[in-house]
Amino acid sequence: MANIILFGPPGSGKGTQAKKLAEKFELMHISTGDMFRYELKNETPLGKRAKEYMNQGQLVPDELTIEMLKNKVKSNQDVKGIILDGFPRTVPQAEALDTLMNNLNMKLEGLIALRVEKEEIVKRLLERGKTSGRKDDQNEEVIRDRIQVYLDETQPVFEFYDNKSLAYTVNGMGNIDEIFERLSAVVEEL
Ligand code: AMP
Repeated sequence: MANIILFGPPGSGKGTQAKKLAEKFELMHISTGDMFRYELKNETPLGKRAKEYMNQGQLVPDELTIEMLKNKVKSNQDVKGIILDGFPRTVPQAEALDTLMNNLNMKLEGLIALRVEKEEIVKRLLERGKTSGRKDDQNEEVIRDRIQVYLDETQPVFEFYDNKSLAYTVNGMGNIDEIFERLSAVVEEL
């Protein structure tokens, strides 16, 4: 049983790497960004509430995000483990995750942060925007806002887990396979 958080700024490769890690280590990949995009596409009440925040590169309010994540984890308790991608993004979300895992008798093995330089992030996201169809990848201003939100609201989540000696950092620069090797080595040691 391994429960892991893959952490890092937007464009650090979390989604790509989380999918590969999920396959290799037989974990369930949970991406709150993907879940919100699904709600948005299907024009559900939750999708409608999340839409403006997402398009502007802001975080969806904690109460909505935490509720959605809780339901997902609770309804998938038969899995070997989970890899969280894009959650938690605020300290209150991290605290809620702690409570949820305690209640479900789950243990978090670690948070692995991908470290990527800022200009590389902007470049990757603009590139992704050409094909992803994601509005929030197509506008440089929104991209820079998302990075700022990450620095202000999400970065403290690293300290939260570092204080529990659960945080690891991996160099996120380089090609997909190289980065995957580095991540796999850390996961194997958890
Ligand atoms: P992502 O695909 O992880 O980059 O997420 C895309 C967008 O979905 C973010 O910019 C937020 O608007 C929203 N989102 C995803 N995960 C969260 C979260 N944990 N908390 C708040 N908003 C989120």
